[in-house]
Amino acid sequence: MQNSPISKIILEGREFFVKRDDLIDPFLAGNKYRKLYTLLKTPNNTYNTIISYGGTQSNAMLAIAAMCEKKNWQFIYYTKKLSATQKNTLDGNYAQALSLGMKHIEIENEYYRNFIASLHVELDTKTFLIDQGGAVEAAKQGLEVLAKEIRQQNKITDLKAVATPSGTGTTALFLALALPEYTVYTTPCVGNATYLREQMQALAEIPQNLIILQPKRKYHFAKPYKEFYTIYKNLYATGIEFDLLYAPAMWQTLLEQTNEKIMYIHSGGVSGNGSMLTRYAKKGFI
Ligand SMILES: *Cc1c(COP(=O)(O)O)cnc(C)c1O
Repeated sequence: MQNSPISKIILEGREFFVKRDDLIDPFLAGNKYRKLYTLLKTPNNTYNTIISYGGTQSNAMLAIAAMCEKKNWQFIYYTKKLSATQKNTLDGNYAQALSLGMKHIEIENEYYRNFIASLHVELDTKTFLIDQGGAVEAAKQGLEVLAKEIRQQNKITDLKAVATPSGTGTTALFLALALPEYTVYTTPCVGNATYLREQMQALAEIPQNLIILQPKRKYHFAKPYKEFYTIYKNLYATGIEFDLLYAPAMWQTLLEQTNEKIMYIHSGGVSGNGSMLTRYAKKGFI
Protein backbone atom coordinates (compact mmCIF):
# COMPACT_ATOMS: atom_id res chain seq x y z
CA MET A 1 0.00 0.00 0.00
CA GLN A 2 1.23 3.46 -0.97
CA ASN A 3 0.80 6.32 1.49
CA SER A 4 -2.89 7.17 1.73
CA PRO A 5 -3.53 10.49 -0.07
CA ILE A 6 -4.37 13.89 1.42
CA SER A 7 -7.46 15.89 0.39
CA LYS A 8 -8.13 19.55 1.07
CA ILE A 9 -11.65 20.62 2.03
CA ILE A 10 -13.37 23.84 3.06
CA LEU A 11 -15.82 23.44 5.94
CA GLU A 12 -17.68 26.45 7.38
CA GLY A 13 -15.22 28.68 5.56
CA ARG A 14 -12.21 26.97 7.14
CA GLU A 15 -9.56 25.01 5.32
CA PHE A 16 -8.83 21.48 6.52
CA PHE A 17 -6.69 18.65 5.25
CA VAL A 18 -7.94 15.07 5.40
CA LYS A 19 -5.63 12.06 5.48
CA ARG A 20 -7.61 9.57 3.41
CA ASP A 21 -7.16 6.37 5.39
CA ASP A 22 -10.74 5.59 4.32
CA LEU A 23 -9.41 4.82 0.82
CA ILE A 24 -7.03 2.05 1.92
CA ASP A 25 -9.57 -0.79 1.45
CA PRO A 26 -13.39 -1.09 1.38
CA PHE A 27 -13.54 -3.04 4.68
CA LEU A 28 -10.06 -2.92 6.16
CA ALA A 29 -9.52 0.83 6.32
CA GLY A 30 -9.13 3.77 8.67
CA ASN A 31 -7.63 3.28 12.08
CA LYS A 32 -8.56 -0.42 12.08
CA TYR A 33 -6.09 -0.89 9.23
CA ARG A 34 -3.44 0.95 11.25
CA LYS A 35 -4.22 -1.06 14.38
CA LEU A 36 -4.04 -4.38 12.52
CA TYR A 37 -0.93 -3.37 10.59
CA THR A 38 1.54 -5.66 12.38
CA LEU A 39 -0.76 -8.66 12.09
CA LEU A 40 -1.24 -7.92 8.40
CA LYS A 41 2.53 -7.99 7.93
CA THR A 42 2.85 -11.26 9.88
CA PRO A 43 3.58 -14.29 7.64
CA ASN A 44 0.34 -16.19 6.93
CA ASN A 45 1.59 -19.46 8.44
CA THR A 46 2.27 -17.88 11.84
CA TYR A 47 -1.40 -18.34 12.78
CA ASN A 48 -4.37 -20.30 11.55
CA THR A 49 -7.07 -18.76 13.74
CA ILE A 50 -7.90 -15.28 15.01
CA ILE A 51 -10.44 -14.87 17.77
CA SER A 52 -12.11 -11.71 18.97
CA TYR A 53 -15.30 -10.58 20.67
CA GLY A 54 -17.55 -7.54 21.07
CA GLY A 55 -20.58 -6.02 19.35
CA THR A 56 -22.16 -7.09 16.07
CA GLN A 57 -21.98 -3.61 14.51
CA SER A 58 -18.31 -3.18 15.28
CA ASN A 59 -16.01 -1.68 12.64
CA ALA A 60 -13.16 -3.65 14.21
CA MET A 61 -15.05 -6.92 13.63
CA LEU A 62 -15.42 -6.17 9.92
CA ALA A 63 -11.78 -5.12 9.58
CA ILE A 64 -10.59 -8.33 11.27
CA ALA A 65 -12.88 -10.39 9.01
CA ALA A 66 -11.37 -8.69 5.95
CA MET A 67 -7.85 -9.28 7.27
CA CYS A 68 -8.52 -12.98 7.94
CA GLU A 69 -9.92 -13.44 4.46
CA LYS A 70 -6.75 -11.93 2.96
CA LYS A 71 -4.49 -13.95 5.26
CA ASN A 72 -6.42 -17.21 4.94
CA TRP A 73 -6.97 -17.36 8.70
CA GLN A 74 -10.14 -18.64 10.34
CA PHE A 75 -11.96 -15.88 12.23
CA ILE A 76 -14.11 -16.74 15.24
CA TYR A 77 -16.10 -13.89 16.77
CA TYR A 78 -17.94 -14.12 20.09
CA THR A 79 -20.80 -11.88 21.14
CA LYS A 80 -23.43 -11.92 23.84
CA LYS A 81 -26.73 -13.58 22.94
CA LEU A 82 -28.54 -11.46 20.37
CA SER A 83 -32.10 -10.35 21.05
CA ALA A 84 -34.82 -10.99 18.47
CA THR A 85 -34.81 -7.32 17.42
CA GLN A 86 -31.03 -7.29 17.09
CA LYS A 87 -31.26 -10.37 14.86
CA ASN A 88 -33.77 -8.61 12.63
CA THR A 89 -31.72 -5.44 12.37
CA LEU A 90 -28.27 -6.92 11.80
CA ASP A 91 -26.55 -4.30 9.71
CA GLY A 92 -24.15 -4.10 6.84
CA ASN A 93 -21.00 -4.67 8.89
CA TYR A 94 -22.30 -7.95 10.30
CA ALA A 95 -23.60 -9.30 6.98
CA GLN A 96 -20.39 -8.23 5.26
CA ALA A 97 -18.21 -9.91 7.91
CA LEU A 98 -20.16 -13.19 7.55
CA SER A 99 -19.70 -13.06 3.79
CA LEU A 100 -15.96 -12.70 4.39
CA GLY A 101 -16.04 -16.00 6.29
CA MET A 102 -16.45 -14.88 9.92
CA LYS A 103 -17.77 -17.57 12.24
CA HIS A 104 -20.09 -15.98 14.82
CA ILE A 105 -20.76 -17.63 18.17
CA GLU A 106 -23.22 -16.26 20.73
CA ILE A 107 -22.49 -16.73 24.41
CA GLU A 108 -25.25 -16.62 27.04
CA ASN A 109 -25.05 -13.27 28.83
CA GLU A 110 -24.54 -14.78 32.28
CA TYR A 111 -21.45 -16.71 31.14
CA TYR A 112 -20.03 -14.06 28.81
CA ARG A 113 -17.55 -12.38 31.18
CA ASN A 114 -16.02 -15.62 32.39
CA PHE A 115 -15.98 -17.03 28.91
CA ILE A 116 -14.03 -14.05 27.54
CA ALA A 117 -11.60 -14.28 30.45
CA SER A 118 -11.08 -17.99 29.74
CA LEU A 119 -10.15 -17.24 26.10
CA HIS A 120 -6.95 -15.63 27.36
CA VAL A 121 -5.71 -18.74 29.16
CA GLU A 122 -6.58 -21.41 26.63
CA LEU A 123 -4.73 -20.12 23.58
CA ASP A 124 -2.58 -22.39 21.45
CA THR A 125 0.40 -20.98 19.55
CA LYS A 126 -1.43 -20.87 16.20
CA THR A 127 -4.28 -18.80 17.60
CA PHE A 128 -4.17 -15.05 18.16
CA LEU A 129 -6.68 -13.25 20.36
CA ILE A 130 -7.58 -9.66 19.53
CA ASP A 131 -9.10 -7.90 22.51
CA GLN A 132 -12.02 -5.53 22.02
CA GLY A 133 -10.77 -2.26 20.56
CA GLY A 134 -7.92 -3.84 18.61
CA ALA A 135 -4.57 -5.42 19.33
CA VAL A 136 -2.73 -2.93 21.50
CA GLU A 137 0.94 -3.69 20.91
CA ALA A 138 0.31 -4.17 17.21
CA ALA A 139 -1.53 -0.84 17.11
CA LYS A 140 1.57 0.99 18.29
CA GLN A 141 3.62 -0.04 15.25
CA GLY A 142 0.83 0.69 12.80
CA LEU A 143 0.43 4.19 14.18
CA GLU A 144 4.16 4.78 13.95
CA VAL A 145 3.84 4.06 10.24
CA LEU A 146 0.96 6.56 10.03
CA ALA A 147 3.09 9.16 11.84
CA LYS A 148 5.89 8.65 9.33
CA GLU A 149 3.49 9.18 6.43
CA ILE A 150 2.12 12.35 8.01
CA ARG A 151 5.63 13.76 8.40
CA GLN A 152 6.54 12.95 4.82
CA GLN A 153 3.35 14.40 3.37
CA ASN A 154 3.43 17.45 5.59
CA LYS A 155 6.12 18.89 3.38
CA ILE A 156 3.14 19.93 1.23
CA THR A 157 0.63 20.91 3.92
CA ASP A 158 2.93 22.47 6.54
CA LEU A 159 0.71 22.18 9.60
CA LYS A 160 1.31 21.48 13.28
CA ALA A 161 -1.90 19.76 14.35
CA VAL A 162 -3.80 16.58 13.51
CA ALA A 163 -7.12 15.25 14.79
CA THR A 164 -8.80 11.86 15.12
CA PRO A 165 -11.84 10.76 17.20
CA SER A 166 -11.61 8.32 20.11
CA GLY A 167 -13.43 5.21 21.21
CA THR A 168 -10.89 3.36 23.35
CA GLY A 169 -8.36 6.14 22.67
CA THR A 170 -5.74 3.67 21.41
CA THR A 171 -5.39 5.40 18.05
CA ALA A 172 -5.11 8.97 19.36
CA LEU A 173 -2.74 8.00 22.17
CA PHE A 174 -0.27 6.04 20.04
CA LEU A 175 -0.44 8.65 17.30
CA ALA A 176 0.38 11.40 19.83
CA LEU A 177 3.30 9.35 21.17
CA ALA A 178 4.60 8.81 17.65
CA LEU A 179 4.18 12.50 16.67
CA PRO A 180 5.57 14.49 19.62
CA GLU A 181 6.20 17.59 17.51
CA TYR A 182 2.49 17.86 16.57
CA THR A 183 -0.62 18.67 18.59
CA VAL A 184 -2.98 15.71 18.40
CA TYR A 185 -6.64 16.59 19.03
CA THR A 186 -9.21 13.98 19.93
CA THR A 187 -12.67 13.85 21.48
CA PRO A 188 -14.38 11.12 23.51
CA CYS A 189 -17.18 9.47 21.50
CA VAL A 190 -17.80 6.68 24.04
CA GLY A 191 -18.20 8.10 27.55
CA ASN A 192 -16.70 11.40 28.74
CA ALA A 193 -13.17 12.83 28.86
CA THR A 194 -12.46 11.36 32.31
CA TYR A 195 -13.34 7.87 31.10
CA LEU A 196 -11.22 8.34 27.99
CA ARG A 197 -8.25 9.49 30.07
CA GLU A 198 -8.55 6.40 32.27
CA GLN A 199 -8.66 4.13 29.22
CA MET A 200 -5.57 5.78 27.79
CA GLN A 201 -3.64 5.76 31.05
CA ALA A 202 -4.09 1.99 31.19
CA LEU A 203 -2.04 1.81 27.96
CA ALA A 204 0.63 4.49 28.44
CA GLU A 205 1.24 7.83 30.06
CA ILE A 206 -0.70 10.55 28.22
CA PRO A 207 1.77 12.91 26.50
CA GLN A 208 1.52 16.72 26.66
CA ASN A 209 0.80 17.07 22.95
CA LEU A 210 -2.45 15.07 23.17
CA ILE A 211 -5.41 17.40 23.70
CA ILE A 212 -8.82 15.96 24.58
CA LEU A 213 -11.62 18.29 23.47
CA GLN A 214 -14.81 17.76 25.46
CA PRO A 215 -18.04 18.24 23.44
CA LYS A 216 -20.29 20.99 24.84
CA ARG A 217 -23.21 18.65 25.38
CA LYS A 218 -23.41 15.00 26.34
CA TYR A 219 -23.86 12.54 23.48
CA HIS A 220 -24.63 8.86 23.84
CA PHE A 221 -22.58 6.62 21.61
CA ALA A 222 -24.30 5.45 18.43
CA LYS A 223 -27.45 7.49 19.04
CA PRO A 224 -28.72 9.68 16.17
CA TYR A 225 -28.43 13.46 16.74
CA LYS A 226 -29.74 16.05 14.35
CA GLU A 227 -26.59 18.19 14.51
CA PHE A 228 -24.46 15.12 13.74
CA TYR A 229 -26.42 14.55 10.55
CA THR A 230 -25.95 18.21 9.57
CA ILE A 231 -22.18 17.89 9.96
CA TYR A 232 -22.17 14.58 8.07
CA LYS A 233 -24.13 16.19 5.21
CA ASN A 234 -21.90 19.29 5.06
CA LEU A 235 -18.83 17.06 4.97
CA TYR A 236 -20.41 14.85 2.32
CA ALA A 237 -20.92 17.96 0.20
CA THR A 238 -17.12 18.51 0.22
CA GLY A 239 -16.79 15.15 -1.53
CA ILE A 240 -15.77 12.94 1.42
CA GLU A 241 -18.01 10.59 3.37
CA PHE A 242 -17.25 10.21 7.08
CA ASP A 243 -18.69 7.74 9.59
CA LEU A 244 -21.73 8.69 11.68
CA LEU A 245 -20.55 7.28 15.01
CA TYR A 246 -17.26 9.06 15.67
CA ALA A 247 -16.54 11.73 13.07
CA PRO A 248 -19.42 14.18 13.77
CA ALA A 249 -18.39 14.83 17.40
CA MET A 250 -14.76 15.30 16.38
CA TRP A 251 -15.59 17.76 13.61
CA GLN A 252 -17.99 19.61 15.87
CA THR A 253 -15.43 20.12 18.62
CA LEU A 254 -12.77 21.12 16.08
CA LEU A 255 -15.09 23.75 14.58
CA GLU A 256 -16.10 25.07 18.00
CA GLN A 257 -12.87 24.85 19.97
CA THR A 258 -9.90 25.23 17.60
CA ASN A 259 -8.82 27.72 14.96
CA GLU A 260 -5.49 26.54 13.58
CA LYS A 261 -4.77 24.58 10.42
CA ILE A 262 -5.56 20.91 11.09
CA MET A 263 -5.19 17.58 9.33
CA TYR A 264 -8.10 15.25 10.13
CA ILE A 265 -7.07 11.60 10.06
CA HIS A 266 -10.05 9.81 8.49
CA SER A 267 -10.67 6.83 10.78
CA GLY A 268 -12.81 4.84 8.32
CA GLY A 269 -16.08 3.22 9.43
CA VAL A 270 -18.11 4.39 6.44
CA SER A 271 -19.32 0.79 5.84
CA GLY A 272 -21.54 1.14 8.93
CA ASN A 273 -23.36 4.23 7.65
CA GLY A 274 -26.16 2.39 5.83
CA SER A 275 -27.73 1.13 9.04
CA MET A 276 -27.13 4.44 10.85
CA LEU A 277 -28.81 6.40 8.05
CA THR A 278 -31.85 4.12 8.35
CA ARG A 279 -32.05 5.06 12.04
CA TYR A 280 -31.64 8.75 11.23
CA ALA A 281 -34.47 8.49 8.70
CA LYS A 282 -36.72 6.73 11.26
CA LYS A 283 -36.16 9.61 13.68
CA GLY A 284 -37.16 12.06 10.97
CA PHE A 285 -33.71 13.71 10.90
CA ILE A 286 -33.20 13.22 7.16
C1 LIG B 1 -12.86 2.21 16.04
C2 LIG B 1 -13.07 3.59 15.52
C3 LIG B 1 -12.64 4.74 16.22
C4 LIG B 1 -12.05 4.66 17.61
O1 LIG B 1 -10.74 4.17 17.66
P1 LIG B 1 -10.02 3.94 19.06
O2 LIG B 1 -8.64 3.54 18.72
O3 LIG B 1 -10.77 2.84 19.78
O4 LIG B 1 -10.08 5.21 19.84
C5 LIG B 1 -12.79 5.97 15.61
N1 LIG B 1 -13.39 6.10 14.40
C6 LIG B 1 -13.87 5.04 13.72
C7 LIG B 1 -14.57 5.26 12.42
C8 LIG B 1 -13.73 3.75 14.25
O5 LIG B 1 -14.21 2.69 13.57
